[in-house]
Amino acid sequence: MNLLALPAFTDNYIWMLHNGRQALVVDPGDAVPVKNTLASLGLDLTAILVTHHHLDHIGGLGAWQGCDIPIHGPRHPGITQVTHHVAEGDTIRWCGLQIDVLEVPGHTREHVAYVLPAGLGPQDDAPLAFVGDTLFSAGCGRVFDGTVDQLYDSLARLGSLPADTRVCATHEYTLANLRFAQAVEPHNPDLIRHTATCEALRAQHLPTLPSTLRTERAINPFLRCNQSEVVASALQQGAPDATPRSVFTALRQWKNRF
Ligand SMILES: [Zn+2]
Repeated sequence: MNLLALPAFTDNYIWMLHNGRQALVVDPGDAVPVKNTLASLGLDLTAILVTHHHLDHIGGLGAWQGCDIPIHGPRHPGITQVTHHVAEGDTIRWCGLQIDVLEVPGHTREHVAYVLPAGLGPQDDAPLAFVGDTLFSAGCGRVFDGTVDQLYDSLARLGSLPADTRVCATHEYTLANLRFAQAVEPHNPDLIRHTATCEALRAQHLPTLPSTLRTERAINPFLRCNQSEVVASALQQGAPDATPRSVFTALRQWKNRF
């Protein structure tokens, strides 16, 4: 089984899994890069996963409406193309893989993540998480119609997945997020090292994703709300106290104006 990040728009990735014959895509905001890849690799699209209703995640769905391809997604009036509504605890089976559904509201109220706990096969067994716009590398999504409390809980949940879980987020926001992370935590040596790695990747136009939870726990300030330098920065930015939830909320507000 192969994992591909198909670039779309200016900074989106449409994630594709394929086994050489069948393919699955996550959040096809644009059908064109998906169709081009299917054609060039000779693949049949046999499943679509949707994390939430924003147009850059669902804009391509119309291309497969009425094609008998299952489109899995949360129940939301803005996603009319979904054929199989999913909710917390559901499991999807596709090509021998188990895909678990987690509800992770916050960026939007109806936002789900898809987790493959056993990875893609014996040679590639690290778990995978398609997290949409919740957890980004070195950052997290903005709050639209969810709440910052929900986002805190959702990131705590995603952050507790196994350390080798590969984090497949939808946007290449990593370098901008790392600039913010360094403002929060200027003395974190892992952050300085990881920034150099990501700058080298982007200089070659390569994705910085997937990241891993091991990396995110070391560099992502939104998963480090109990670390002393993160707490001190949040207090300086107006956090009312040093509890992780207050620190998280202050960081999210600071990032909005950073
Ligand atoms: Zn979104």
